[in-house]
Amino acid sequence: KMANETLKAELGNASWKLFHTILARYPESPSENQKSTLNDYIYLFAQVYPCGDCARHFNLLLQKYPPQLSSRQVAAVWGCHIHNQVNKRLEKPQYDCSNILEDYDCGCGSDEKEVD
Ligand code: FAD
Repeated sequence: KMANETLKAELGNASWKLFHTILARYPESPSENQKSTLNDYIYLFAQVYPCGDCARHFNLLLQKYPPQLSSRQVAAVWGCHIHNQVNKRLEKPQYDCSNILEDYDCGCGSDEKEVD
């Protein structure tokens, strides 16, 4: 069995990948319904995140930095900043958020399915 720290890091890695990719595919001009869906998703993600200590800290960060969901760009940069807050706490380097949309291209091409 892998060391706990390795497992926790792998879970974090996979989770952040999905988190940033979802934000990078959020609509450019979201409807109220789409805003509310993503907002719910983020708070539920924070509640169910399997590492209890991580979830507790992430919930505190959400209180301090509530989701900014007015557009794709705003949401993706918000996600980058909140991940940087986690990086800071874990003494990891700060990530450059200036090309966040390009960094999380999902390979979904022109398939701009928007969920409401
Ligand atoms: P990760 O932080 O996993 O990042 C993965 C990749 O994303 C990086 O290699 C980089 O390419 C990119 N990246 C880095 N920063 C950003 C950014 N700001 N925006 C966009 N992309 C970026 N671990 C703990 O030990 N304690 C905790 O309290 C804790 N809380 C967590 C809370 C949440 C919600 C999540 C999802 C994870 C948490 N983790 C926690 C795990 C931790 O954040 C890392 O995922 C783990 O330590 C592995 O780090 P990593 O160096 O592989 O990079």
